[in-house]
Amino acid sequence: MEEKLIKIKNAALKELATIKDIDEFKKIFTKYLGRKQGVLTDILKDIKNLGADAKKAIGQVANQVKNDVAAAFAAREKELSGLEIEKKLSENLVDVTLPGLPAGWQGKKNQAGHFHPSTQIQYELEDMFRSLGFLVLDGPELEFDYYNFEGLNIPQYHPARDSQDTFYIKDHANWLMRTHTSPVQVRALQKYGAPIRAIVPGRVFRNEATDASHEHTFYQLEGLVVDKDISVANLIAVMNLLLKGILKQDIKTRLRPGYFPFVEPGFELDINCLICNGKGCPVCKHSGWVEILPCGMVHPNVLKHGGVDPEKYSGFAFGLGLNRLVMMKYGIDDIRLLQSGDLRFLQQF
Ligand SMILES: [Zn+2]
Repeated sequence: MEEKLIKIKNAALKELATIKDIDEFKKIFTKYLGRKQGVLTDILKDIKNLGADAKKAIGQVANQVKNDVAAAFAAREKELSGLEIEKKLSENLVDVTLPGLPAGWQGKKNQAGHFHPSTQIQYELEDMFRSLGFLVLDGPELEFDYYNFEGLNIPQYHPARDSQDTFYIKDHANWLMRTHTSPVQVRALQKYGAPIRAIVPGRVFRNEATDASHEHTFYQLEGLVVDKDISVANLIAVMNLLLKGILKQDIKTRLRPGYFPFVEPGFELDINCLICNGKGCPVCKHSGWVEILPCGMVHPNVLKHGGVDPEKYSGFAFGLGLNRLVMMKYGIDDIRLLQSGDLRFLQQF
């Protein structure tokens, strides 16, 4: 029996030395040390059935063999796991010196993401106005009633408040979601004083039903110029430069009187509808014209709220509907597409 044990031990150690991976290891482990049917396990079970003397004689050898084999298996297992890890590491080697891939999406490599069409136009406008010496400013979306209305010559009782369906904030009578980017006019005047040239691109909110040309959340680009001797002629010149620069085509514009409490005189600048070329469509409400640029000369009361002397300074302001401009530029006939998050739509730009 002793001989048999030594034989098994040698066979096990020999086989252990030839295997190459953890799968082979598992097989021979079961073969020799498997609980139910291992070669060594079986013979150790047989020892129990021997007589007391024989058991004593063989017991020590059996234990020694069992311990040696178990130790050899454990050592080999450790070695093989180490090799396994090294193998996996070498297969997944990352070459950090390779050039990067463009940001991919939808699992397609080499297909870079890009800016939303509204953002593209916003950045183009920012570049254009920076080249004309304008500051690009930002303002809070959660705004005080004072900056959204009061400071813009729209006091508490003024009916103009009704024309801007406003999201008010519960339990905070002085707070609201700004309905236009105009609050930054007063903020900018208070902060920088006159003279000033600034634009304010940003998100605004209206509590209204949506349709092909209305959204509850949309983008405007406010403009403000305050200096000595600024006139309507300056306003028209800048507006035409702006529209021509961004639409990159000849467009018809018309200026008609418009009422906004924070300008005097006030105008509506319309452009020829580029979706239907003036024939009439849902976007232009079948008029052939799209209201794109309310503008005017800054009201003296607004200058006063901004701490600027209206006797010395004058200026003009405009509020460009960024979404509408995007729609005109690309011929998009439904404003809701812009915020739909639909990749089939966005991939076209
Ligand atoms: Zn139209």
